[in-house]
Amino acid sequence: MAYAHPGQSDSLVRFAERYENFIGGKWVPPVHGEYLDDVSPVDGRPFTRVPRSSEADVDLAVTAAHDALPAWSATSPAERARVLLRIADRLEADLERLAVAESWENGKPVREALAADLPLAVDHFRYFASAVRTQEGSISPIERDLVAYHFREPLGVVAQIIPWNFPLLMTAWKLAPALAAGNCVVLKPAEQTPASVLLFVELVADLLPDGVVNVVNGYGPEAGKALARNPGVAKIAFTGETSTGQLIMQYAAENVLPVTLELGGKSPNIFLPDVLAADDEFAAKAVEGFVMFALNQGEVCTCPSRALVHESIWDEFLDRAVARTEELVLGDPLDPATQVGAQASDEQLRKILSYLALGREEGAEVLVGGGQRGVPGLAGGYYVEPTIFTGTNRMRIFQEEIFGPVVSVARFSDVDEAVRIANDTRYGLGAGVWTRDGGTAHRVARAVEAGRVWVNCYHAYPAHAAFGGYKRSGFGREGHVSTLAHYQQTKSVVVSYDPAPT
Ligand code: NAD
Repeated sequence: MAYAHPGQSDSLVRFAERYENFIGGKWVPPVHGEYLDDVSPVDGRPFTRVPRSSEADVDLAVTAAHDALPAWSATSPAERARVLLRIADRLEADLERLAVAESWENGKPVREALAADLPLAVDHFRYFASAVRTQEGSISPIERDLVAYHFREPLGVVAQIIPWNFPLLMTAWKLAPALAAGNCVVLKPAEQTPASVLLFVELVADLLPDGVVNVVNGYGPEAGKALARNPGVAKIAFTGETSTGQLIMQYAAENVLPVTLELGGKSPNIFLPDVLAADDEFAAKAVEGFVMFALNQGEVCTCPSRALVHESIWDEFLDRAVARTEELVLGDPLDPATQVGAQASDEQLRKILSYLALGREEGAEVLVGGGQRGVPGLAGGYYVEPTIFTGTNRMRIFQEEIFGPVVSVARFSDVDEAVRIANDTRYGLGAGVWTRDGGTAHRVARAVEAGRVWVNCYHAYPAHAAFGGYKRSGFGREGHVSTLAHYQQTKSVVVSYDPAPT
């Protein structure tokens, strides 16, 4: 049975009619009094409003974060870990409500929010609570009476700007390491999905000292740009499109700030000939790995949106892939049976449909899907059929990020050619390789230019594996203890014990 939609009397979620910014531990209306609509992609209707913030709101938030910084940065790692663990517990206790809220706001199937987004977010807070306690400094014995010792210090007030495809998981990926390292944060959610983030903040506000986490809502070129250019900010952590990442680097240059960028992708998923020769359980697993292009409606930065299939298994593998794709259940995201939900916005829907038309114009063949789909009772929603194209890697549908449930498939005749095609892209975020041959798997994993390669699996995001891009997919890593370094600066203290004057 589907979860009741917000607005219905038996829904788990009650959205307020309007939200405010969260600044200094309080809900603060925008200085200029403007708001924007938050539209549910499930039915295409607005369901709440959030501030359309300006530079003045960002200034308030950065000031509040600075006020909180001396006390928060002086807390011990153990104290900060305790706060993160309590946040994780709170999230876990309210997981179902948050999953429904996120599904309603983003259009993702509630089964995914329940099984992946929320549990991974919870684990992220727990992981960084542990990771920060494992950090140690170091001492360098330079001469008999001269030593240097090193501290890792927080950077200060950190700006974090996130996209709409995983509102709560991206919030966790950003907040957990930044807070663990002792920074204060001003976070800007995507204008398409602010409410999930605000529900999260509402839930955990009392666990954090006022001003340690601040949330400012609004459009990217307004609130986002003002935040990235604010001189009180010590670092910008950004996830979003590559073109926006380029702007963020320009803004960061104005104040000489470090940035980390998690950007777009066009990830190859490589299927070697022994995929079908092996036992049928393994073949079935590989086919499941292929259809992951439709996970989260393809709105995943690591969407396996290019599949490379060996010529010897081409027909049989694609027959199986098409059959499995046809079985995917598309429908109301709040129905736990649904596997493919709604695209996140009308703009995104139109972009995907334009790529479906472009693929045909370029001469790609559609094996399945290829259009918009109506869902009974949800006429205004944004639904697209999972689509398989076949073509060649130089086509734009192979080179440009579509960010929809669309995979472009090309054939190859040997492993070297597969690697060459895999690397023939400006992106380098994710990649998959499927084979029973361990040596080949290892060689391909090393040869593919991507920050994350999955072998015989795909779309696994454990908190303790580093995630991030090569090439135009960005730089810096999230997840893994090494991420703490992106939120810290090193201080060396050089001490002389020599009693003689130098
Ligand atoms: P986007 O770049 O349009 O927006 C991302 C965020 O940046 C939003 O909060 C937006 O308001 C803000 N923004 C936009 N213009 C800005 C500006 N001029 N100054 C400051 N902020 C600005 O991206 P999107 O459409 O929300 O998200 C989809 C993109 O995110 C895809 O390219 C996807 O691949 C990428 N993504 C990457 C990862 C990763 O980890 N590498 C994860 C998720 C999504």
